[in-house]
Amino acid sequence: EAVRRTPRWQKRLVVLTVGVGTLTYAVQDNRVLQICDGTGNKKKVVILGTGWAGASFLRNIDTSLYDVHVVSPRNYFTFTPLLPSVTCGTVEARSIVEPVRNIVRKRNGAFRFWEAECFKIDPTNKKIHCRSDVGTNINGNGEFSVDYDYLIVSVGARPNTFNTPGVTENCHFLKEVEDAQKIRKSVLKCFERASLPNLSEEERKKNLHFVVIGGGPTGVEFAAELHDFVNGDLAKLYPDVKKYVNISVIEAGGHILTMFDKRITKFAEEKFKREGIDLKTNFKVVKVSDKDITMTNSDTGEVSVPYGCNLKLEEFILQGSRRVLATDEWLRVQGCEDVYAIGDCATIAQRKVMEDVAAIFRVADKDNSGTLTVEKIKHVLGDIYERYPQMKLYLKSNQMKGFHDLLKNSEGKESKELNIEEFKKALAQVDSQVKMLPATAQVASQQGDYLARCFNRMQTCEQNPEGPIRIRGEGRHRFKPFRYRHLGQFAPLGGEQTAAQLPGDWVHVGHSTQWLWYSVYASKQFSWRTRMLVVSDWGKRFIFGRDSSSL
Ligand code: FAD
Repeated sequence: EAVRRTPRWQKRLVVLTVGVGTLTYAVQDNRVLQICDGTGNKKKVVILGTGWAGASFLRNIDTSLYDVHVVSPRNYFTFTPLLPSVTCGTVEARSIVEPVRNIVRKRNGAFRFWEAECFKIDPTNKKIHCRSDVGTNINGNGEFSVDYDYLIVSVGARPNTFNTPGVTENCHFLKEVEDAQKIRKSVLKCFERASLPNLSEEERKKNLHFVVIGGGPTGVEFAAELHDFVNGDLAKLYPDVKKYVNISVIEAGGHILTMFDKRITKFAEEKFKREGIDLKTNFKVVKVSDKDITMTNSDTGEVSVPYGCNLKLEEFILQGSRRVLATDEWLRVQGCEDVYAIGDCATIAQRKVMEDVAAIFRVADKDNSGTLTVEKIKHVLGDIYERYPQMKLYLKSNQMKGFHDLLKNSEGKESKELNIEEFKKALAQVDSQVKMLPATAQVASQQGDYLARCFNRMQTCEQNPEGPIRIRGEGRHRFKPFRYRHLGQFAPLGGEQTAAQLPGDWVHVGHSTQWLWYSVYASKQFSWRTRMLVVSDWGKRFIFGRDSSSL
């Protein structure tokens, strides 16, 4: 009624004011083209995957500048560091996932999500081919293609079985939320099975033998979490079978947690021994059947142990094909225009190249027992560039720089022998590159943030190629290359104790670090919703203990 009575000139004034206001905002923001044209003038960015890398890119990209399309077989982001807690019911699965649509809901600009898997990238025609299993299209096969201006590949990695027979069929992997839920059910089923009547002692023991393959942070955290679950909660509920429980951790190397400081490794190993967790270091798993695990050790030879529940927790390899997604420091995939790779799929590839390179040099060195000649090293470099032709320029100015300097220094010298110390220094540089790139959520998330920030400034840079006046003297306006900033790492060891290794060689293990772990992991949650859920799950666990129903 009020609107009807308002004079027409006043209504026109309101419309005009709102219109001018919007236009001014658009012009001020340098976004007039995009807003006026709808999607027409905007470049289309397609993101593959909604893991750490994809989600952090999505969270930071300015959706008013680009048409953002996401393709992933799951429509949510998972906070993977808390997956081991889901396996024992310390936190609920739903508390650690964030729907993708929630991440971009409050932002203006076009955004589309397709629940599908990309199975082919056609960089020549700038197209990706996808397959969805949630519905069928006109052709009835669920396949469709999407074109892109920029493609961000963040498909992560899949678990590596090292082609060990029986691993795929008989082991649980811990990668997705569904895996954690399956493990939880399986653990509880083992307890129920062991409690059945008419079972021999041997059978009860076998059912309650939990074997964890891999002594890295995830394997150790899971073993510790399981030990707490068994002793803190299940022991009261299954008093008759408690004595049969055995947890083993099998590690191929000499120690567990090798990526941590030696003090942490020692503390963790001693703690596990005290608590009765069976640590089998220097054991390599060679076969897994539905009844037992076969492993070898240089002292004992081949041994087989029966198990009830078996988990393979470490090592990931690239999704899909074995071809590497080699990227440069700006995260551009070499040899493919406008394709970027972030997260594990890029990191593991980079590591693989570096490991290959280091191995080639080591073999060359071994042949000549420390007397590498200039010719030989030139030959090895040629080999590497032939193997990774798209990365030649990048490798030459980065990882291989040490070797080129070495060759330069030997020019004109009488002896054609290389300085072995310099050679070792150059090789150490390559090794340090491998260590500098762990395949972790930290790296993936920093790469996603970095790339989104570059994309948000891309147009400004294209319009002013010489850059702002203050940097014109320094040449072209470019983005700084990606640099990983290590913020430290945690290893929860159970019994409310956590090991922490923070920058500046700060190492601490104990109850106080557990509280630091709680606060860091709560603060790193993707939204206030998941933060509240996770904290309340921890609270519930303190008061009522973990839930032992196999739901
Ligand atoms: P992911 O997070 O694996 O995401 C890959 C995405 O790609 C997924 O959404 C997947 O559905 C999608 N996808 C797969 N194939 C396709 C396709 N063909 N087309 C489209 N989409 C596809 N790191 C830490 O820093 N700290 C920790 O404490 C820690 N704990 C961990 C605990 C566990 C149990 C695990 C498994 C990992 C842990 N990590 C930790 C490592 C960390 O989770 C990974 O490094 C990180 O998830 C890598 O992120 P990403 O985006 O590259 O891959």
